[in-house]
Parts: sequence; C-alpha cells; structure tokens
Amino acid sequence: MPENDVASAALSEATVFIKPKRARPFFGRHPWVLESAILRVDGEPASGAVVDVVTHDGNFIARGLWNASSRIRIRLYTFVEDEALDETFLRTRIENAVSLRQSLGLYSEKSGCRLINSEGDSLSGIIVDQYGSYLALQVTALAMAERLDVICDSLENLLRPKGILLRGAERGLGKLEGLHLPDRQLRGERPDGPIFVEEHGLRFGVDLTEGQKTGYYLDQRENRQAAAAYAAGRRVLDMFCYSGGFGVASAISGNASSVLSVDSSIKAVSLARANAELNNATTMSVEQADAFEKLSSLHEKGEKFGMVILDPPKFARSRASASDALRAYHRINRLGVDLLEPGGILVTCSCSGAISRDDFLMMLSAVGQRSGRTLQLLEHRGAAIDHPVNLHCLEGEYLKCSIVRVD
Ligand code: SAH
Repeated sequence: MPENDVASAALSEATVFIKPKRARPFFGRHPWVLESAILRVDGEPASGAVVDVVTHDGNFIARGLWNASSRIRIRLYTFVEDEALDETFLRTRIENAVSLRQSLGLYSEKSGCRLINSEGDSLSGIIVDQYGSYLALQVTALAMAERLDVICDSLENLLRPKGILLRGAERGLGKLEGLHLPDRQLRGERPDGPIFVEEHGLRFGVDLTEGQKTGYYLDQRENRQAAAAYAAGRRVLDMFCYSGGFGVASAISGNASSVLSVDSSIKAVSLARANAELNNATTMSVEQADAFEKLSSLHEKGEKFGMVILDPPKFARSRASASDALRAYHRINRLGVDLLEPGGILVTCSCSGAISRDDFLMMLSAVGQRSGRTLQLLEHRGAAIDHPVNLHCLEGEYLKCSIVRVD
C-alpha cells in the first residue's frame, strides 16, 4: 500500500468515489454530496463516520461526514488532504466563528448574536445563537448531533454561558436527516423567564425556551433598523410581526405616527405587546389575525398606510414548491401595495432559500405591473453580518429584504 493511502486510511473510515463529471461542485468547495453523485463506496461507513471523497479514479477531493439516511449523503468539512475531522478540527472551527463575531464587535453579553451559521462558518449542520449569557443551539445534521458534547465543551470554554439549550428542530428534519432531537437543556441552567437583549438602543424580550426558531430573528436585526429609517410620520403596518421587532423599531427609532403589528400566533402577539410596552411604544398596537384576511379586510375598508412591512414565514420549502410560493408572495405583496398611499414604502421579505433574489424581484415587478403602480427599489438587503454566507454554498443566502417606494 503506498504511503499516502496509509495516511488517509487513518483519517477516514471509508472512501467514496464520485461519478465521472459529477465532481466539479466539490472541487468548487460545495459542501453537500447527494446520493446521486456517488459512484461507489469502499468500506461500510456508519452514520456520522468520517469518509474521504475522491474522483472516480481515486484522487482526493475532500473529507466529510456520512449519513446513510440523509438526502445529503456526505457533508464536507475539509478540502485539505491532511486535515483530520477530529475534535481539534471542530474546536478550531468553533473558535474561528466566535472570534469573527468578537472581532467585528458583534458579541456582547447585553445583546444577541448568531455565533455559528452552519455552512457560512464551514460548520454545516450547526447553528448557535447567543442571547445575553445563554446560548441556543440548533442542530440540523446527524453527525453534529453525535458531536454535541465536543461542541458544548468548546462553547463553554470560550464563553462560559449560564446555559446552553437545544432548540428549534425544523419541521421535516427527522425525515430528511434521520434526526430526532426534541428541545432540551444541554448545559448549565434554564432561564426562568425572557432574556432581554439590546438592539440599536431598543430592548427585546426573547423567549428562549418556547419561542420560534432559537427564540428571535437575529437575521433581520439590521433590516429592522433600515426599515425604521423610512418610517417618520408614516402610518405603519407590520405584517407577520412575531415579537414586534419591525414595529417597535418603526415606532421608536423611526418616529412612525402609528404602528399596527399583526401575527396569527397568539404567543407572538403577546411577545410583541410585551416588547412594545418594554420600549414604551405607545403608538403601537398588536392584533392577532391571519395576514391574508387582515390585508384584504383593511383594503375593503379603504384603509391606507405610509409603510407596509411584510415578513412572512418560509413559503417555499424546496425548489419544487418555488412556483406555488411565488404565487403566495405575489398575493401578499399585491395586497400590501394596494394598501399603500402614493409615495408609500413597502418593506418586503422572503426567507425562502429556494426563491432567488432575481425571482423575488421579478415577482415584485409583476406586482407593480398588475397594480398599475411604479415600484422603485431603494435597497435590496440580506441577513445581518453575523449570518455570513459561504460563497461555495449559495443555498445559505436565504434572506431577502427589499425596500421599495411605490408611486
Ligand atoms: N418580523 C418578525 C419575524 C417574522 S417570522 C421579526 O422581525 O421578528 C414570521 C411570522 O409569521 C411568525 O411569527 C408566524 O407566527 C407568522 N405567521 C405565519 N403565518 C401567518 C399568517 N397566515 N398570518 C399572520 N401571521 C402569520
């Protein structure tokens, strides 16, 4: 056996050969190997095992972790032949992700920050959000679930959090990844009430144990502030408000004349009301309603707004559902545009990774055409910078936030 085979045998449990002409994405550092790209496997890797990925004729491409029950059969973590996927690798990646936020001045125990953003930090399958002195961890890959102890040890060593909670198992993940991870306390103590975080001079209560996702939408932090800059003197409608971030920012930072925030979830409504109160946003009211019904009924009553914010949940779960999702985006955006007075501002978001920026802007263009209004794109924004995107895996660039003036 040649020497390099001995070395690589020690670093992996199996060798996966990629079909001819299917290796290009992995040379391009894309981290997901789907089953359809695999020619054959030498060895019988258990789920979570380290495997080497090689060309059909045996040249090293990358090293990753195997999951027999996932559509993403291998997640790649290194493209360097002598880098082992051991505890040191995991600790180093975690340290790098945390120190990036620290060096950008984003980490403070008074506020919230995404510390690890999955592929964006070359840690496919791990998300860590920090709220004050607590951490909320979301795991979307089996191999990372098996390494929870190392991940928690690293985070404890680096940050000494009061507690680490496992949160936000995504719908359908069990089926996709063979992963069943109910929410639970991983380390330290459980917060006995909301955690308060600062955001651009405002304060928000975060429900870490029962809130949506990991408790709060950190990705929209800069977009809430950007939207608020247009709110002065306007009557604002904040649709899909969750904990009220856009509404509070518009009312307090933006000096809106009034804000109506709407969400269909009763828990979201009470969070948004509590956050309005916490910031003394007396011009903001919060209602429980279905967005489509509320938008239509406001329209029927002839109500007009100076600014409409639309931040719906993910409409497209996959590329296959993208066209249905685009129709739903069209519908709410049309309803939103119809409620705007001339010169009004539409802040419209999509968190569906399966909808591209171009598809989203084309949808908005069609809305303008159908409604007989001219739409001017003032800003097209993405997620906050603690959500870096891996340029080799653009699937991670999911959030779009367009700020549009409607004539
Ligand atoms: N804008 C929020 C995040 C919104 S998340 C922020 O900045 O924090 C999407 C929200 O849409 C969730 O709170 C969810 O409860 C709500 N939602 C989902 N379907 C809805 C519907 N049909 N009508 C109104 N709200 C809905």
